[in-house]
Amino acid sequence: MNADTDPHPESRAAQALGWIDDATRAISPPIHVSSTFLRDADNGYSSGRVYMRDQNPAFDQAEALLTSLEGGHETLLFASGMAAATAVFQALQPGDHVLAPKVMYWSLRNWLHGFATSWGLEVELIDMTDAAAVRAAIRPTTKLVWAETPANPLWSITDIAATAEIAHAAGALLAVDSTTATPVLSQPLALGADIVMHSATKYLNGHSDLTAGTLTVGSDSEQWQRVRAVRAQIGGTLGSLESWLLLRGMRTVYLRVRAASASAQRIAEHFAGHRHLSAVLYPGLPGSPGHEIAARQMPGGFGGMLSIRVTGGPDAAVAVAAHTRLWKRATSLGGVESLIEHRASIEGEGTPVPADLLRLSTGIEHSDDLIADLEQALDAAHA
Ligand code: PLP
Repeated sequence: MNADTDPHPESRAAQALGWIDDATRAISPPIHVSSTFLRDADNGYSSGRVYMRDQNPAFDQAEALLTSLEGGHETLLFASGMAAATAVFQALQPGDHVLAPKVMYWSLRNWLHGFATSWGLEVELIDMTDAAAVRAAIRPTTKLVWAETPANPLWSITDIAATAEIAHAAGALLAVDSTTATPVLSQPLALGADIVMHSATKYLNGHSDLTAGTLTVGSDSEQWQRVRAVRAQIGGTLGSLESWLLLRGMRTVYLRVRAASASAQRIAEHFAGHRHLSAVLYPGLPGSPGHEIAARQMPGGFGGMLSIRVTGGPDAAVAVAAHTRLWKRATSLGGVESLIEHRASIEGEGTPVPADLLRLSTGIEHSDDLIADLEQALDAAHA
């Protein structure tokens, strides 16, 4: 990319890189549904496409756009964030050691414990916010460091540049789950990460109407080719309609994420020190753990996700969620509608999440309305 001549990322996203269909001059891409492609008479495939599973033309634009927004070399779409994340681990070899955070997306943590270890990966969960702990945990067999920042659902912050340095010194890769930060607020590859992962189900799509995942790599490598092979052979790929919807969602990602982030900042500031809360967890609050690092690596805002801890314990937290009207009680995040969730009840036993915690995904409604709804729910639950 040339910063002097290329349009800003907002413009690239809005126009999906300015693509126009050669055949029809359509501004929006067609949806291809063919599962197979015609072979040439000489037995070749001059179109470059053989079979839909991992050569769906519907992937092309969404992958190219995200590669551009992340400043990467190549992007692969997957059928979900989990399919994307697990492909990175599946590309490793039995006996390889991986470091992952104690605080991370719970389903991936469960998969690492349950499946990855049974396939011979040595999985070690550590405090990824502590560079000294990361350095101390490195072994000669460490091949991958997995970070998530801000990390679900405590929104703890990992210093990407410092962690990349430690991983690279050991000959390991750093992969970052940047679902919460999005390319709008953070550029992990520019900070030294090797792979960026998104649950595109969340902000990239933004409308809670599909599941999708992405991996973007900074440069090609043997390991990346193995990840490509995992996708092609296992086939956890995205459908045509979902790929099309994802591209449509990504066109407005800058507007949506900036609105959600500004609103979350306002909500966090409003509720900090609230009489019915013991804590507001949001990296945008000065004095919160990792605030300075977050300010450095997320210069455009701290994201739309925050959590609150309700006085009165787990029952009071569940009661607050029960009394909200505008905030919808549902799992997931990153959509235009605001969601509230009692996390401990979905994560189950062994979760590091406090039982009095509610996770808030701020949408793009007016922040006055979101604040008023949460105020009345807190009062009703504590009446
Ligand atoms: N990473 C994070 C941070 C998530 O929040 C999620 C889903 O909630 C995932 C990964 C998994 O993505 P998906 O649900 O698209 O499989």
